[in-house]
Amino acid sequence: MAWERTFVMLKPDTVQRGLAGEVLARFERKGLRVAALKLISVSQEQASRHYAVHEGKPFYEGLVQYIRSSPVVAMVLEGPDVITQVRALVGATRPNEAAPGTIRGDFGLDISNNLVHASDSNENAAFEIGVYFSEAEIVSYERDSDKWLAS
Ligand code: ATP
Ligand code: MG
Repeated sequence: MAWERTFVMLKPDTVQRGLAGEVLARFERKGLRVAALKLISVSQEQASRHYAVHEGKPFYEGLVQYIRSSPVVAMVLEGPDVITQVRALVGATRPNEAAPGTIRGDFGLDISNNLVHASDSNENAAFEIGVYFSEAEIVSYERDSDKWLAS
């Protein structure tokens, strides 16, 4: 199966709680390949582009405020069927519904502080990658282990 890309963000609570390494390790351990990675403060423009789909919802203002409240780790991950694979690792949006073993199930208590963002479709992944990364920041490479992970 072809390797695809997704956009993942370790949200402010993950960085503030010192869990960024532990969460990134889960993606690495799964076999996903990091194609881009950086710590950033999200700008107003990035936040409003990223969350345009939620504009008008009751939690929208709080969501934009939260994502800009402290640095985040933005990344591009690659793998076969990567969107589904990553969302399975992340778990349900509400941590009280997220299964144990998932990131939100293991580390989260609250929907507003749910640790990770992950794209939910190939189309949204391409859009969100473009909000946070330039083409030059995304690195294409192969690892020797790739052939042992998926054929
Ligand atoms: P994400 O897009 O962050 O990966 P998701 O796809 O599981 O999460 P969405 O429905 O896209 O969930 O909502 C985006 C984010 O908005 C959620 O991760 C959460 O932080 C916030 N959110 C969603 N619904 C609510 C709500 N009812 N109350 C507060 N915050 C919410
Ligand atoms: Mg979403």
